[in-house]
Amino acid sequence: MRYAYVNGRFHRHSEAAIHIEDRGFQFADAVYEVWSVRNGQLLDADGHFQRLQRSLGELRIPSPRTRAALEQIIAELLRRNRVRNGLVYLQVSRGQARRDHAFPRAATTPTIVLTCKRLDFAAADARAEAGIAVITVPDQRWARCDIKTVNLLPNVLAKQAAQEAGATEAWLVDADGHVTEGSSTNAWIVTKAGKLVTRPADNHILHGITRARIFQCSQLLDLEIEERPFTPAEACDAREAFLTSATSFVTPVVSIDHHTIANGRPGSLATALRQAYLDQS
Ligand code: PLP
Repeated sequence: MRYAYVNGRFHRHSEAAIHIEDRGFQFADAVYEVWSVRNGQLLDADGHFQRLQRSLGELRIPSPRTRAALEQIIAELLRRNRVRNGLVYLQVSRGQARRDHAFPRAATTPTIVLTCKRLDFAAADARAEAGIAVITVPDQRWARCDIKTVNLLPNVLAKQAAQEAGATEAWLVDADGHVTEGSSTNAWIVTKAGKLVTRPADNHILHGITRARIFQCSQLLDLEIEERPFTPAEACDAREAFLTSATSFVTPVVSIDHHTIANGRPGSLATALRQAYLDQS
């Protein structure tokens, strides 16, 4: 049996529900967070909890639980669902209120939902060993992509386009012709000189917690990072390309828009960074 946590109680997953006038459902007026779970432990717990607070603060949604309370709920959720390797998903909306665009009364209680599921990390390892294909699509999102909101329709459409093109991820390209990030991952390339390049953590990308960890791993490996935008053409001509996220860690990219990167095999730096990330986690 699967269980979900909704507003203070554990429910059977199949019966867990929120109100039809929840503002997450009505307006995407909600934030979320995702932790990877390996051997029963949350990866990068601090970073994800801090980002959750930031997302809530940016949208002025009151924090519904302390971190200590959330940790207890997550531990119980993982125990009930017998998940030792997988992910935890948390969503907090501004709550349930009569439909009106402006914020409801200050006393409105935020809605909190937590679920978890098993992930096949062996399959993710196999994907990383083979490398994945990405396509590029226009970035059609709003101007505050640094806030982790559930407003993911452009990301959904981009990922669907990738799947229909036989690719695993879509890289989003802004009006200036630069890659912002993937539909659910941060985007990186390695120049011919061996420098890592990734877009600065501005308002046009989610400030990935795994991205931040790669900055630490790159120091251990004595690699230099340049934070600047890059184009799909530069990526196609790069020595390596890869992406990062909580559940895919570091995954080498071997083709972009059907153009093979370098020799079509996962790059050595991406592979070393994946290993360093997993060793440090
Ligand atoms: N960019 C987007 C749009 C995402 O949705 C995600 C993860 O969900 C990421 C980047 C990677 O962030 P993280 O490393 O914190 O998982």
